[in-house]
Amino acid sequence: MIIQENIPISSLTTMRIGGNARYVAEVENLQDLKEAYEFARNPKMRPEGAGTKGPLPTWIMGGGANTIGRDEGFPGLIILNRIKGIEILSQTADEVVIRAMGGEVWDDLVAFTTERGYSGIETLSAIPGTVGAAPVQNIGAYGQDISHVIESVDAYDAQTGELVVIGKEDMNMSYRSTIFNTGKDAGRYFITAVTIVLENESSMQPPFYNSLQQYLNEHNITDYSPTSIRNAVIAIRKEKLPDPKIEPSAGSFFKNIYLNYKEAESAESKGIKVYTKSDEQKMINSGYLIEQAGLKGKTLHGFHISDKAALILINKSANSYADLVAARQEIIDTVYTKFGFKLEQEPVEIVAATNTALEK
Ligand SMILES: Cc1cc2nc3c(=O)[nH]c(=O)nc-3n(C[C@H](O)[C@H](O)[C@H](O)COP(=O)(O)OP(=O)(O)OC[C@H]3O[C@@H](n4cnc5c(N)ncnc54)[C@H](O)[C@@H]3O)c2cc1C
Repeated sequence: MIIQENIPISSLTTMRIGGNARYVAEVENLQDLKEAYEFARNPKMRPEGAGTKGPLPTWIMGGGANTIGRDEGFPGLIILNRIKGIEILSQTADEVVIRAMGGEVWDDLVAFTTERGYSGIETLSAIPGTVGAAPVQNIGAYGQDISHVIESVDAYDAQTGELVVIGKEDMNMSYRSTIFNTGKDAGRYFITAVTIVLENESSMQPPFYNSLQQYLNEHNITDYSPTSIRNAVIAIRKEKLPDPKIEPSAGSFFKNIYLNYKEAESAESKGIKVYTKSDEQKMINSGYLIEQAGLKGKTLHGFHISDKAALILINKSANSYADLVAARQEIIDTVYTKFGFKLEQEPVEIVAATNTALEK
């Protein structure tokens, strides 16, 4: 395993901002992973040099598609997950159990499953990033999220140095939140593999998520097989969302707003469009608030508020985190003044102080 020094975080993340990481390790197997954490814990493993005497903070990264680097960089070790492999563990007449290693590209897993006719993650097609990061914020799109299919994850517990298996019931999954990114254990578990259970045959039937249904109607598509739905989702995303290889972004920059029925009634009385998500939950699309506040299509401090999807900030010409902070504040303030809702950022920021992985 090679550990590189002074690597710009901007080169590791799709938003393309952020100063240098002191060290970066790419891990391809469990042995590499243990050695990487040992390198961070034990100063004797590192070359002599200023600022590397005590234990180093660590940060886990996959594809950097939901991660923002700050201008001050990161004084520790970023561990990039490149552990590969997909295997079918078992299959019955109805279900198939699949384990994918955390460093696999998420969309390669979706392609693998849809090609074989398995259903459960087809609407999660073309989400950038790795398999290991998918459970962290419970990725979701077009009506599915990974909480619907996940069974367990294999993980390295950075506090104890042990390999553990964490079942879905212990992940506390909700909209963009799990134990892996929220609360005292955020950053503690390095997910090495994800086990999901899919259906052998698709049971997906209309009505689908609004924009997906609209696309199917417009193109007279009545084939709801996993491959057909995957192709539709890819076509919609291609039309609406920036390709991170060409236009730097972190996808949706703000989370949608979830409300109870009472809060929803109050929002609706002010003329705000509210969607019903479940018997208990309603939701406001934050992109709609940004659009209604007149910000869609504007460029603030080098960040363009996408004219196709207002939740997405595209880095047109900014090269500092300070620019992002200024643009973010302007959007939050404008929406708050107009609607009274405070937008919350979705991508995580690499901050040494929040790291919990070295309390061994
Ligand atoms: C154009 C675009 C569109 C997007 N669309 C969607 C969408 O439709 N739905 C959606 O939910 N998200 C979407 N995203 C966000 C992003 O793709 C997902 O959050 C994805 O899971 C990030 O994967 P990653 O490997 O790049 O994670 P990273 O950005 O590398 O990491 C994200 C977080 O997970 C942690 N992490 C990463 N790997 C591991 C691991 N192995 N073990 C433990 N923790 C880990 C990191 O420490 C960090 O906190 C989009 C992003 C872009 C750029």
